[in-house]
Amino acid sequence: VADYADGEWSNARIEPYAPLSLNPANATLHYGQSVFEGMKAYKNEAGEILVFRADANQKRLNESAKRLCIPEVPEELFMEGLRQLLELDKDWIPNRPGYSLYVRPFIFATDDYLGIRPSEKYKFMIFTCPVGAYYSKPVSVKVECQYTRAAEGGTGAAKAAGNYAASLLPALQAQKEGYDQLLWTDGKSHQHIEESGTMNVMFLINNALITAPTTTGTILKGITRDSVLTLAKEMGVKVEERFLRVTELEDSLRNGTLQEAFGTGTAATIAHISKIHINGRDYVLPEIKEDSFSSKILNTLDAIKYGKIADTHDWIIK
Ligand code: PMP
Repeated sequence: VADYADGEWSNARIEPYAPLSLNPANATLHYGQSVFEGMKAYKNEAGEILVFRADANQKRLNESAKRLCIPEVPEELFMEGLRQLLELDKDWIPNRPGYSLYVRPFIFATDDYLGIRPSEKYKFMIFTCPVGAYYSKPVSVKVECQYTRAAEGGTGAAKAAGNYAASLLPALQAQKEGYDQLLWTDGKSHQHIEESGTMNVMFLINNALITAPTTTGTILKGITRDSVLTLAKEMGVKVEERFLRVTELEDSLRNGTLQEAFGTGTAATIAHISKIHINGRDYVLPEIKEDSFSSKILNTLDAIKYGKIADTHDWIIK
């Protein structure tokens, strides 16, 4: 935990996990002035703790903070807090495939007065929680063409608390209809696939790996997304960062050119997609094989994260 007041961060400390005492007027509760991150720590066979791309999470937290008028957290404070916490928590990290320690850093307003203006006081906190595999089987998704997750000029590229509250209702409706996740489309035309609620999404069509660009400010710059694109290019796979039209996705499902579809994110790493609902129709995807592109990527990423193969990209922080 660290506190921000009078223009600076101070009083960095470790506290037991416990409920917080907050002023009921604070801007997090009323106006959503809050940003967060999600990352994972793993244990290798030698018992060492490996954190995957924590530097990228630290940078993204500060990018989100800027958008929400929240003061940035210095890299040193973030990394030292993380180091001390993981040292304390190391016995909670299971050294088993699929298991890791989820790490949740966040910054939120703690002002004492109501008012729609940037708060003057904040807290930065990190807490952790041991987790297992996210999905035990491939997921079904529904293309969402009514609600919008992120509008151009909005906060879609930030990991801002309110983005997720706004997505709950449509996601719940999709779950009631039997789908695990939504595939969000753009807020203007609802004609272009953007991402899912907790993952970026990728499609392998005619041997090209297609994923939405992050230049519109409506899509989270996923760290897993970046890692997968880096590995794909190294494997010689053609990568196309462009919007996939809903009609193009539907055509590729009808004519069999869609080979694989999957989500990428810290929680699931790679979530294979088995079914896509578009405009009232369900399309079933080909079954994922052990030697499929996404299985290979998943195995490679897992091997890097658990320290089983060389970390040639400097993604692991010990
Ligand atoms: N999109 C959204 C909306 C997310 O919440 C997440 C999870 N952080 C992602 C994509 C995937 O990002 P990452 O790979 O950095 O976990």
